Amino acid sequence: MTRIKKVILSESEMPDKWYNIHADMPNKTLPPLHPGTKEPIGPADLAPLFPMAIIEQEVTRERFVEIPDEVMDIYKIWRPTPLVRAYNFEKILDAPVKVYYKNESISPAGSHKPNTAVPQAYYNYKEGVKRMTTETGAGQWGSALAFATKFFDIDLQVFMVNISFRQKPYRQFLMNTWGATVVPSPSKLTEAGKRILKENPDSPGSLGIAISEAIEMAVKDEGTKYSLGSVLNHVLMHQTIIGEETIKQFEKFDDYPDVVIGCFGGGSNFAGISFPFLRGNLKNNNKTRIVAVEPESCPKLTRGEFKYDFGDTAGMTPLLPMYTLGHGFIPPEIHAGGLRYHGAGPIISQLLKDDLIEATAVNQNECFEAGVAFARTEGTVPAPETTHAIAQVIREAKRAKAEGIEKTIVFNLSGHGLVDLASYDKYLRGELQDYAVSEEEINQHSSEGMKIPISA
Ligand SMILES: *Cc1c(COP(=O)(O)O)cnc(C)c1O
Repeated sequence: MTRIKKVILSESEMPDKWYNIHADMPNKTLPPLHPGTKEPIGPADLAPLFPMAIIEQEVTRERFVEIPDEVMDIYKIWRPTPLVRAYNFEKILDAPVKVYYKNESISPAGSHKPNTAVPQAYYNYKEGVKRMTTETGAGQWGSALAFATKFFDIDLQVFMVNISFRQKPYRQFLMNTWGATVVPSPSKLTEAGKRILKENPDSPGSLGIAISEAIEMAVKDEGTKYSLGSVLNHVLMHQTIIGEETIKQFEKFDDYPDVVIGCFGGGSNFAGISFPFLRGNLKNNNKTRIVAVEPESCPKLTRGEFKYDFGDTAGMTPLLPMYTLGHGFIPPEIHAGGLRYHGAGPIISQLLKDDLIEATAVNQNECFEAGVAFARTEGTVPAPETTHAIAQVIREAKRAKAEGIEKTIVFNLSGHGLVDLASYDKYLRGELQDYAVSEEEINQHSSEGMKIPISA
């Protein structure tokens, strides 16, 4: 039997441009606002944090942006990534569906995150930056940036949420191996950290606190810049290399997806796999459904409100127009740490508001059940985050069977779970808890942020 299992592009077939969906959005995003004046911010406001090239990419309306040769050269260590037809997984679905996955877990850091870490490190290097700071929760973003900064002789200071630092040491070891300096946050390196430690020497920390520390250190030192791994426009754009490759690979499979699925934290891997297909909807009238999958315990897309809110807990970042649960909302400790963020990126939020994408929420036991089923048929143990996308594939398959309609489905395998096996162990022992967020909890934070002005 000759059937194609996977398509790998050659290096020369690799797309050499990122796609900026801003060019094709019917309604553009609203501008970020200064936290003090509430006026739209300009490039100068961001200059202490990011190099100029990144700021330009944040606001550009160019449809395509050239990938620099130096970045391509590093991408090629693991890119192009395979698009794989999941024949074995399809069998257990017993539904009229073809399922494909784009395997982003094969990067050195084990996830899609290096796709933006590498260009971010490169643009900083080009502008003479010698040190970068960032925050990390479970360590996926910190390790991706640790890997990337090494190529450009940039020192990296990572503020890792204290509780993860203690409970999940392996990505800390990975960051150290790539030469980054990792401290638990809150730390004594910043005023923000010292303030919190004074109140509570055993503070477990939070992503919000870690962001405040990383920003403070970058603002105080001219040669130091800050880096964010999701949410912002330039990050989403860097990730579109995923979907651009996938389109070319589908041509070789002689197929095209009816449904594109990505798990959702701040929106970067979802944007990466889906925006090039959304272009097909917007420009060629294709009817591909684009589905973002979030945890039920952190439901900003399905139960949040579209308004201006801060990107961090302390309220130091610009106000961004987004679907948010409120910047003070602290999600329960689910294992998909990368999905525990209170807001969605501004572009994603606008697309959802305009009904150009869909969103759905799943609880973690359904996710791990899907993850185990996938591991037992296709081999790869998916990251807890990624299992959300797989759970949705199963839901789509059931729907296709009930409706008797054939469907081609693709999902982004955003990362592997080899550093997260403790969570699988918990699931297999039946000790994993589902968390539903009550209306009260959602209402508690509903006054945070700022309504979208009517003139906007
Ligand atoms: C960080 C992470 C996510 C979530 O972040 P997005 O920006 O929403 O993509 C998803 N999957 C993996 C494997 C991650 O590391």
